[in-house]
Amino acid sequence: MKPARTRIAPSPTGRFHLGGARTALFDYLLARKTGGQFILRFEDTDRKRFVPGSEEEIIRSLDWLGITPDESPVHGGKYGPYRQTERREIYQRYAGILVEKGSAYPCFCTPERLDQMRREQEARKVERVRYDGLCRRLDPEEAARRVAAGERHVIRFKMPYEGTTTAHDHLRGDIVTENKYLDDYVLLKSDGLPTYHLSAMADDHDMEITHVIRTAEWLPTFPLHVQIIRAFGWEEPVWIHPSIFLKPSGKGKMSKRDDAAAIKDGYSIFVDDLQGLGYIPEGVLNWMALMGWGVAEDDVMTLDEMIARFSIDNLTPSPAGINFQKLDHFNGTHIRLLATEDLARRLKPYLTGAGLAVDNDTLLKVTPLIRERLVTLDDCIPFAGFFFKDGVEPSPEELVAKGLDAQQSADIAHKAYDILASLPTLSHQVAEPPMREFVERSGLSANQVFGILRVAVTGQKVSPPLFESMEVIGREKVLERLQRAVELLKKM
Ligand code: GLU
Repeated sequence: MKPARTRIAPSPTGRFHLGGARTALFDYLLARKTGGQFILRFEDTDRKRFVPGSEEEIIRSLDWLGITPDESPVHGGKYGPYRQTERREIYQRYAGILVEKGSAYPCFCTPERLDQMRREQEARKVERVRYDGLCRRLDPEEAARRVAAGERHVIRFKMPYEGTTTAHDHLRGDIVTENKYLDDYVLLKSDGLPTYHLSAMADDHDMEITHVIRTAEWLPTFPLHVQIIRAFGWEEPVWIHPSIFLKPSGKGKMSKRDDAAAIKDGYSIFVDDLQGLGYIPEGVLNWMALMGWGVAEDDVMTLDEMIARFSIDNLTPSPAGINFQKLDHFNGTHIRLLATEDLARRLKPYLTGAGLAVDNDTLLKVTPLIRERLVTLDDCIPFAGFFFKDGVEPSPEELVAKGLDAQQSADIAHKAYDILASLPTLSHQVAEPPMREFVERSGLSANQVFGILRVAVTGQKVSPPLFESMEVIGREKVLERLQRAVELLKKM
């Protein structure tokens, strides 16, 4: 396959969500797979909806995911500029070419007239409200004179009234539309700025985009887009409109408004939030890839493996449900695949962010102990935060083992203290066997005895493996904490 040039063309009008990120991932995979380029272009012509910071968020999100574009407004490239507001003249020139070819025409109709036209057509209950072609029938020379005289106008595409348009989507096959359901869409607005229909087609052509992957929301105007390209006589890209996302409930299409619900459950549909929520790019990428890419459901892949296996033939057009539990699954799975040093480096900011004083030696010892239990990186705070505190504050009630009273629990803690204090070190190999023997002798369960010990030395009921944890905490502190537990229990 010849090198593919792919692109995302987000509008900087809001936050960067999973839908945009998944498109970017497919674009990236196809470009890498074929030795091509992945391009980021900003469709920023809608100045009223422009949101400051949005461009930065998109770039930051792509970087974090590890799918950085090869060409973009910040990375440069020889097909720039990569912002549509910097390409105005290009679109005006292209609109002029279509007018010259007779495929487009200036329209001088005022908004008031168009409004009236629409109302009349609605009253007549037409099948499809459509521009009535008043200016389409103007003598081209007269129209040119009015344009030259500075009369306010738009440029409209001259859609055939009859016949059909066949547009081919790589996943959906031929889509045949009767032209009477289409319209003389506006290509250039009266302020001289293009609509998506013109600018996207022009940019994709100029930037030599070979594959356009975009949301299925563009299917209704897909016939127009191929008509525009054919009117220019350009080569069409391969069109791919992947699946839409469904809400986690499976009911209805996912929209940006669904984020509130996601946030409540500790998730987000915005990529830029996921790091703060403890997700790692590997997990997010794997999860996103499988929404719309037909490989076996629980297939764990790194980005490199995805590149190796990617094919646009395996993308699917059927809707994909957003399932955050699967995100958790992939995140945990990829966390477990990380090398200890790498995982430790990634955990550190969450611990320090929680106000803990982290020393790297301890962190490197703790990391393997907690790896299996992490779903998100920030799970390390409740689970292992105590390793980085000077003291622990066990609750006396929690120190009392199930089925025992405070006095009995104090006795156990005391005996455990004696056993551990008699040992030269508290490495888990040394400490565990005598403690297990003690459990046997005591006639109690391991849960009861080790439960007391766990709460005493970690301050919590759930912790990483007890003896490994005690080894990291160190003999002195373990003994100190056991003593304190005995005191607490006796006071109850
Ligand atoms: N700005 C368009 C959007 O965000 C781009 C669509 C496309 O990729 O062509 O929907």
